[in-house]
Amino acid sequence: MSLMPPQEARRRMLAAAGVITDIEHAPLADCAGRTLAHDLAALRTQPPFAASAMDGYAVRVQDLASLQALDVIGESAAGHPYRGSVQAGQAVRIFTGAPVPSGADTVIIQENVTGLGSTSITPSVIEPKGRHIRAAGLDFSTGDVLLTNGTMLDARHLGLAASMGHPALPVRRKPRVAILSTGDELVLPGEMTGDGQIVSSNAVALAALIEAEGGMALDLGIVGDSKGATIAAIGRACEGADLVITSGGASVGEHDVVQDALKANGFDIAFWKVAIRPGKPLMFGVRETVLCLGLPGNPVSSQVCGLIFLRPLLRKLLGQPDAAQDLREMAVLGRALPANDLREEYMRARLSREGDGVLTATPFASQDSSIQRLMAIADALVIRPAHAPAAPAGAPCEIIRL
Ligand code: AMP
Ligand code: MG
Repeated sequence: MSLMPPQEARRRMLAAAGVITDIEHAPLADCAGRTLAHDLAALRTQPPFAASAMDGYAVRVQDLASLQALDVIGESAAGHPYRGSVQAGQAVRIFTGAPVPSGADTVIIQENVTGLGSTSITPSVIEPKGRHIRAAGLDFSTGDVLLTNGTMLDARHLGLAASMGHPALPVRRKPRVAILSTGDELVLPGEMTGDGQIVSSNAVALAALIEAEGGMALDLGIVGDSKGATIAAIGRACEGADLVITSGGASVGEHDVVQDALKANGFDIAFWKVAIRPGKPLMFGVRETVLCLGLPGNPVSSQVCGLIFLRPLLRKLLGQPDAAQDLREMAVLGRALPANDLREEYMRARLSREGDGVLTATPFASQDSSIQRLMAIADALVIRPAHAPAAPAGAPCEIIRL
């Protein structure tokens, strides 16, 4: 199989993934990071009444022309509206957030009256109609659709949904993602490493990404490089999962058994080997409703492929629009780069603002896919297109922030 361009691989992967149809009704307090499964209409109008934006007096504009004294006939406070109506020559003491009583059509702030607090006040300014009044429905009205299907809900959306009158929201079931780490050399984090052993770090990093994207990660631990064990482990991983992630064992060596184990479990391999660095041995397979993304074992490869493939895949499963959008930004290179080969490269880089304020991305000198230390302190990935010519420092480049 030749190397597939990453855009094509991603297109095929997203085309094969269907949006999860199960919908849950979650209380607002549990909705942060969940994805809305319907358009959401307001159940009420906000504000529901004309409300004062200031502390002062609700009056009639026509009474202000002569700046005459006005009788204070009552009070309207937040939660305690004045029930009567303001007639000629009258004013109602009013506080921020309180309903403007009928008859009044403007508010004078208390700094602009004499006689504050007494039964008669005299305005010192003329105000136009509607001054310091928030009209009913200024924010939204009943029936307005304010949040759309596929929105990943954050603090702003949840505050709005509460004001719209929704105590709970329809959200998509979290995609269930099983993670299987393959390799005879692997031990769990914290375990003593013996001869030739390596700590398995990929699963915990992938699980964090999955949870941050609104998925449910199920870490199935480590399986050795035997084909039989890998076949059995993938079979177990498929139970109840929407997506199985494997790490390692995806290359061409005799110990790379993941592809065979997927086929033995009935998966069709949609692609294997992508023109990307790091991450060439990336694999994607489909078995009816279960998807499998086979990631390379090198920690940086697995994390970069997590961002470039797994993240959009989760967004697609959750029905988020623009799942394939990486939110790329423009920057300039902080150092010269040589010409690139046929693999699109994602280079770990530091971001800075140089004297002229220009966003500058400086790739680390080492881009070895085993070096996690630099991945952890990188601010962004610089994208080098396939066959990009050599670029001098200062040349424009695309980046994805980390
Ligand atoms: P592989 O893709 O299985 O050929 O592994 C490539 C490299 O990544 C090897 O050096 C492995 O030891 C390392 N590796 C594989 N799986 C993991 C893992 N889960 N955590 C950390 N390193 C890993
Ligand atoms: Mg391996």
